[in-house]
Amino acid sequence: MIHRLQFASLLAATALAACATPPPVQPADLSPGVAWVADNAGWAEEAQDVYGEATAHVEEVAATRAPGTWAVALDIDETVLNNIEYQIRIERAGETYSEESWQAWTQEKAATLVPGAKPFIERVNALGGHVALVTNRADTTQLWTEENLAAVGLERPEDFRILMTKATPEGVSNKTPRYDIIPAMLAAQGYPGVDVVAYVGDNTGDKPDTSGDWAFFCIDQGGMYGEPCAAVAGPGR
Ligand SMILES: [Mg+2]
Repeated sequence: MIHRLQFASLLAATALAACATPPPVQPADLSPGVAWVADNAGWAEEAQDVYGEATAHVEEVAATRAPGTWAVALDIDETVLNNIEYQIRIERAGETYSEESWQAWTQEKAATLVPGAKPFIERVNALGGHVALVTNRADTTQLWTEENLAAVGLERPEDFRILMTKATPEGVSNKTPRYDIIPAMLAAQGYPGVDVVAYVGDNTGDKPDTSGDWAFFCIDQGGMYGEPCAAVAGPGR
């Protein structure tokens, strides 16, 4: 007879083994964009390079502006958080995106970091900039989203001050109205006179519709979904 404690540790060991050995990625099963991100090296290098360019931009800005008077706005999915595991799962299951499967994935809080995102966010804060996250994740998933961000080391207030989701079910997908109120939100928090000097995203809609004195930095997500901003989706730039 197995002692209860032994049985418990056997269960724990089995669970651990299951966690430690995820199914190997077989790019041949996957669509080209998903396979490229899943394979990681080329995608990670591109993402880090883009964040390097964004860092150079904010360093220039910081040299000419008082601390606390500028901000950057980042998208979340495929810009800060990497949801490749979700994409792999639905493709392997022969499914496409659905509200239900995405909600379940969001609830798992298992997205990982896009390479370069965390060092960039830390650099912005160290230079005296504010970070706003503007996402089309639903407002009903905001708590899970914040917990997922915290799990990868991104927390309020050290890393970001603002997180704006999209209202469910009839919220506006266009982010421009939310971008427009970032300075007012920061002013209300005690930081007046802030300008957004850079946007980072993976989709064409991750920057305002209107022109202004800001720069946009595009993360290549391999053309997995949406309206990717990358000139060349996947390998190549
Ligand atoms: Mg995105």
